[in-house]
Amino acid sequence: MTTVLTSSAAKNIEQLLRSEQVVRAFQMLEAHADYITEEQVRICSIPAPPFGERRRAEYLCERFRELGSFETELDSETNCIALRNGVSPSPLLVVSAHLDTIFPPETDFTVRRAGGRLLAPGISDDGCGLAALLALAQVLNTAKIELAGCLLFVGTVGEEGEGNLRGVRHLLTTGRWVNRVSAFISLDGPGIDRITNRALGSRRYRVHTSGSGGHSWGDFGVANPVHALGRAISRLASYPAPKQPRTTFNVGRIQGGVSINAIPREATMEVDLRSASEEELLRLDAFFRRAVREAVDDENIMRRNGNLPLELSVKLIGERPSGETPSGSPMVELAQEATRALGFTPRLEMASTDSNLPISMGIPAITLGAGGSSGNSHTLDEWYDPRGRDLALKRALLVMLGTVGIRNGGNM
Ligand SMILES: [Zn+2]
Repeated sequence: MTTVLTSSAAKNIEQLLRSEQVVRAFQMLEAHADYITEEQVRICSIPAPPFGERRRAEYLCERFRELGSFETELDSETNCIALRNGVSPSPLLVVSAHLDTIFPPETDFTVRRAGGRLLAPGISDDGCGLAALLALAQVLNTAKIELAGCLLFVGTVGEEGEGNLRGVRHLLTTGRWVNRVSAFISLDGPGIDRITNRALGSRRYRVHTSGSGGHSWGDFGVANPVHALGRAISRLASYPAPKQPRTTFNVGRIQGGVSINAIPREATMEVDLRSASEEELLRLDAFFRRAVREAVDDENIMRRNGNLPLELSVKLIGERPSGETPSGSPMVELAQEATRALGFTPRLEMASTDSNLPISMGIPAITLGAGGSSGNSHTLDEWYDPRGRDLALKRALLVMLGTVGIRNGGNM
């Protein structure tokens, strides 16, 4: 059978698959499956709540240091950074996974096992990405792969929630690596066929209302901050969010008040707005802000004479830009060919990940699954099954080497 290869991405992958170093690396990724899983368990046992990733970052840095051949540092934002130099300083590809989880500091991060599965908060998101970083770094050593360009391995902080991509933002917009990054890969979550090339934009708000408070009976008529938020939520819930382009909203947290028979002095809610389209996101955003303003106005209008009006603050606490790395771009083509080379059909997707930031800056970026399978993500019952993980590591390696090149093209 003869295969006609047309795209340069396909030729690139074909050539890599024939190189001795890549063949050796593939064998090692298969042989070291258990070791990679044990490393994942060690990483995920170290708590990494939002804004508390330092210990996990330090651990990762230590592992990179032990490998030798990497310039390793903890940057001022506590990203773990490990540079593998090639012959030339460019292209420089970032290969990243995020250190943080969504879980608070008091969470039990102990990893349990059941059958072939690992169970722990963050075990998959993004424990499998972090394990992949180390496995891919290690295989460069053991398979003696010399690079043409450079690989910058990064464990990022602040990918989840209110972290607001602060790790990747710091990496790409301040300090040493600004303007040096040619392309960006994030390894986030499980899977082998997914290629996230479109960035889902979001806006997140904290809304706070406050008033004088009082007795539920005696002071009835005093403007009520919880009632005001109720009015606002009711308005938001009536928003006709389009199915296409997919647009969503969520009031995720609500707090306020001290007692059933006291008019609260304050109330807070946190709101997440998302859309596949920037235009729809802005429309929803404008509706939301108007809804909150009008809801508080309504509550103030209903108050009894002589009482103070509620005060309102609407604070933007998260903003993720949208955009895309086009499906025909060299990086996405390379990832698609690598996926096919391993026997899978590539699936282009949209999500909100660390890649949002480089994409919005015009840096080619994709997010890839780091292999295996998982479930109950973002819950305390999160599980991960490492079976088949090597396939995704091989795919990531092909994309990495296809982007930065092997010195002298690799030995055939
Ligand atoms: Zn994640």
